[in-house]
Amino acid sequence: MQNLPEIDNLIKLISKLPGLGPKSAKRIILKMINNRKEILKPLANNLGEVLKNIERCTICGTLKSNNHPCNNCEDKNKKYNKICVVENISDQWAIESSSIFQGYYHILGGTISDSNNSNNRENLLINSLIERVKNDNIEEVILATSATVEGQTTAFYIQDSLKNTNVKISKLAQGLPVGGEIESSDDGTLISAFKNRRDL
Ligand SMILES: [Zn+2]
Repeated sequence: MQNLPEIDNLIKLISKLPGLGPKSAKRIILKMINNRKEILKPLANNLGEVLKNIERCTICGTLKSNNHPCNNCEDKNKKYNKICVVENISDQWAIESSSIFQGYYHILGGTISDSNNSNNRENLLINSLIERVKNDNIEEVILATSATVEGQTTAFYIQDSLKNTNVKISKLAQGLPVGGEIESSDDGTLISAFKNRRDL
């Protein structure tokens, strides 16, 4: 291949994206270069905007624009009494698109077993979740972590962390296949898992 460091670097970066290897990275890059005006330039601008303006909310963990209040946890017009706890933003998006749940989300950004460092509780915004339950008059916390060992360990840990708040805690029904990830569940599975959730 030609020796173009810019392209080599880009191949390395794009190969790190989910589902892409060096071969598909090369195809993507050629497509972009062959469509400078329609794809490459707007994409570069857009990535710059995302880098500058989009960040993780430090209260609820979802994505927010840093120019605006978070539309998940800081919108005072919303008067929900439920919080749905998920591992990742892709899980939030999957549940939103199924329309089964009306309420706030809390996005952990991983599981308790992702690392052994003592900051994990802080990273997963668990103290923030406790504060939200107390301050926003939350009546129910729905644990919608994955049906994996890590997801279930995390659910148990959160249940334990919330025990002094007296909030009702429920967990999605085992309609989810064992080892199932929320984000890859279809709408029907998610809807039945929510409807059949059980109290803990
Ligand atoms: Zn937020």
